[in-house]
Amino acid sequence: MSASTADSAADHDAASHGVTATELHELRARLGDTQLLTDPDVLEGYRQDWAKAPDPGMPLAVVRARATEDVREVMRWASTHGVPVVPRGAGSGLSGGATAVEGGIVLSTELMRAIEVDPVTRTATVQPGLYNAEVKAAVAEHGLWYPPDPSSYEICSIGGNIATNAGGLCCVKYGVTTDYVLGMTVVLADGTVVRLGGARLKDTAGLSLTKLFVGSEGTLGIVTEIIVRLLPEQPPRSTVVGIFPDVVACSEAVLAITSRIRPAMLEFMDNVSIRAVEADLRMGLDTSAGAMLLAQSDLTGADRAAETELISEAFRANGATEVFATDDSDEGEQFTVARRAAFTSLGKVGSLLLEDVGVPLPALPQLVAGIEEISARRDIPIALVAHAGDGNTHPIIVLEDDDPDRAARAQLAFGEVMDLAIGMGGTITGEHGVGRLKAPWLPAQLGEDVMDLSRRIKTALDPHGILNPGVMF
Ligand SMILES: Cc1cc2nc3c(=O)[nH]c(=O)nc-3n(C[C@H](O)[C@H](O)[C@H](O)COP(=O)(O)OP(=O)(O)OC[C@H]3O[C@@H](n4cnc5c(N)ncnc54)[C@H](O)[C@@H]3O)c2cc1C
Repeated sequence: MSASTADSAADHDAASHGVTATELHELRARLGDTQLLTDPDVLEGYRQDWAKAPDPGMPLAVVRARATEDVREVMRWASTHGVPVVPRGAGSGLSGGATAVEGGIVLSTELMRAIEVDPVTRTATVQPGLYNAEVKAAVAEHGLWYPPDPSSYEICSIGGNIATNAGGLCCVKYGVTTDYVLGMTVVLADGTVVRLGGARLKDTAGLSLTKLFVGSEGTLGIVTEIIVRLLPEQPPRSTVVGIFPDVVACSEAVLAITSRIRPAMLEFMDNVSIRAVEADLRMGLDTSAGAMLLAQSDLTGADRAAETELISEAFRANGATEVFATDDSDEGEQFTVARRAAFTSLGKVGSLLLEDVGVPLPALPQLVAGIEEISARRDIPIALVAHAGDGNTHPIIVLEDDDPDRAARAQLAFGEVMDLAIGMGGTITGEHGVGRLKAPWLPAQLGEDVMDLSRRIKTALDPHGILNPGVMF
């Protein structure tokens, strides 16, 4: 489509959504042509995230901001005209949080890619569009490490990580995104720019507003700069792999480990996910395994050997039929690659409904048994992978065809898994966020008083509800 055809399509859309063509041109004039996109073919690519939430809207425009000032201009314009704005990082979200709203603006941070590392304070100041893997690589040049490592680290942005409070594989020992955020710049719904926190390792002045924005999923403000805390680079790791007859024995082994140590990784895959990854990547995984646990130790010297032995013992004592340990980091990395590939490999088997439920650790065996029961009763395949050491599981409903009866049963199972976790004092989401897909279950977890408090905060910051409407609330 030519630029002029695209413009006229946008003029039509603008008129049909209560914003006049002149008003849209006013925004274009403030931002420039390369940043405000209205070509319908381009807009199509910004309508959904990885979760493919149903019924995405067709946005009026996509704005690719380059600086905080651009975001401020968009929010000033959007609040004046009452236009919804959906912030978007890399679109790898698994809860439908970056789903376009009809007639709204999608505010993409993909061009905001600067990073500055300060080895003295061991901090980095980062724009939100940089991928997690790029942040890790940039700080590694200074011998430093940014720990949070979602499996999607090569395809997700640091801004999206902050907005979802992303977790990952090493978080069992090193904590999640919020544990590394010292400060940020945020553009509020009316275009006000606030700077929170700073490169200060201790700071208790005022309310903890920085933490309020971490995990707020684009509903309270748009994060345009982040200051993160860094650690010295991680020591080499040893890996222990255990093969188990079933998922319950596997989760008992998890408790045997977490009650004694904090390993650097403790990940879980069930038979369905092992078979999907093996079919996809041909890595030589044991497809007869009922389940597999993957643990790592990054202690140094003799402590690492002792921790590796403790993990191996816990595996054997809880019914592992095979235990394999290696100090070779490349060999260990192969198993990590297999675990990280689970979603994409399962996605090749069918369409996915992805869950992210977590429970207090002692309830883990009960949770995995309950998920098996739901799968059997609803006659719906549910694969299971987990950041097991955190009690955070990903039951994944796999639909190999579009049989409407099966789809209806899958939706029921999707809700029952969340009800099950809530009933165990757990959470509907450990790391992916509530988004659109889990919003109906949030009141059951939080209760009416906490929902009311959350709504009051939302209304105070975004009185006209233009920031990511439909997400979380
Ligand atoms: C294969 C695969 C594996 C994954 N594994 C993990 C995992 O191990 N751990 C984990 O936590 N997640 C995982 N995820 C989910 C996803 O990658 C994370 O939620 C990630 O943090 C999203 O980042 P993004 O840049 O893609 O954000 P997007 O999908 O673009 O957006 C996510 C949410 O953040 C909001 N947002 C984005 N940028 C901003 C901003 N600058 N300001 C305000 N709001 C913003 C959006 O509005 C949306 O609500 C996985 C996803 C995939 C596809």
